[in-house]
Amino acid sequence: MIIKKTYKFCLLLVDEYLQLCCQFAGACRWVFNHGLAARKEAWDNDKKSLSLFDQNKYLTTLKKQEATGWLQDIHSQVLQQALHDLDQAYKHFFRRIKRKEGKAGHPRFKCKGEHDSFRYPQGVKVVDNQVYLPCIGWVKFCKTREIQGQICQTTVIKKAKRWFVCFSCEQEVPDLVVKNPKKVAGIDVGIERFATIATEDDIEIIQNPKFLRKDLDHLRFLSRQLSKKHLKGKNWKKAKAKVQEFHEKIKNRRTDFLHKLSTQLVKSHDMLVVESLEIQKMIINASKALARSLSEVGWGMFLEMLKYKCEYLGKKFLKTARFFASSQICSSCGSKATMKLDCRRYSCGCGLEVHRDDNAAINIRAAGISALKACGAAL
Ligand SMILES: [Zn+2]
Repeated sequence: MIIKKTYKFCLLLVDEYLQLCCQFAGACRWVFNHGLAARKEAWDNDKKSLSLFDQNKYLTTLKKQEATGWLQDIHSQVLQQALHDLDQAYKHFFRRIKRKEGKAGHPRFKCKGEHDSFRYPQGVKVVDNQVYLPCIGWVKFCKTREIQGQICQTTVIKKAKRWFVCFSCEQEVPDLVVKNPKKVAGIDVGIERFATIATEDDIEIIQNPKFLRKDLDHLRFLSRQLSKKHLKGKNWKKAKAKVQEFHEKIKNRRTDFLHKLSTQLVKSHDMLVVESLEIQKMIINASKALARSLSEVGWGMFLEMLKYKCEYLGKKFLKTARFFASSQICSSCGSKATMKLDCRRYSCGCGLEVHRDDNAAINIRAAGISALKACGAAL
């Protein structure tokens, strides 16, 4: 089995390289925005769609023109990648229209200071704690772990104040899938509790850390400071950097929490069963406060982590059927009752009375086990 993994390290840039990185990211943004404008114009005027091939050809002519000759100083494949990104953005846009997934959202122009990045499809070399970036040179990075597998592409990206290098790697690993899982866990995710984990004889509760909620006051303070500054002035830029840094800090704390929890869960069980959630749809339909809570808890990222970590370690990962009503079935006798969203306790005629999430987690686990039995696994 081939697995894909991304390794992210902090770059240690001296001033000269820092400038080059900014220049590369700036050129990519320019090419992306220029390409987007050209696509829009071609569509508005002639109802014509430009292809990636057309745009790459146009890029070559731009390099020969005097006004845009500076593009020649930038590694050519890096610029082509920016057009490739634009092409991908359009493909996703058309897919969303076709599938009617919420608001389709046309690709947008990139702003300076937001997602500054550039990507090499090849030509990058790594020796010890140094990476060779074509047209830039050998750059040191904080090597916190060993890179395994073949590097497919390399992205250099700025997050808040720091620059990072991300190596996307492919690695061949032996297939280890557990045929007859013994330790099965059902996981119910929620807002009040982050997760309720039902195992054979126990129920574990993981509280919601609510990273954003705790820091919201400070974030509001920083945003207020920003709004008082003269737009795009020196102090505005400083305040903006502070806001970005704080967002980054919240994000890092959340990712760290999710990584630790998911790794621990995958390592200590043979099979994980989760509910299938349509998170994007839920966020779109929710009120503003609920939407914030929904995106803050990071279920999507958590389920994604569980899924790929299960794959890496050869564990089973299963999602319940899409309309499986985990919270409405009695986990003791199997009868069904309609539950209101704000009702936190599940009580049934058979005498069962438990927390709503406990009941759901037990049901999710049971659904996973019966799906396994249907496939003929011996438990
Ligand atoms: Zn019952």
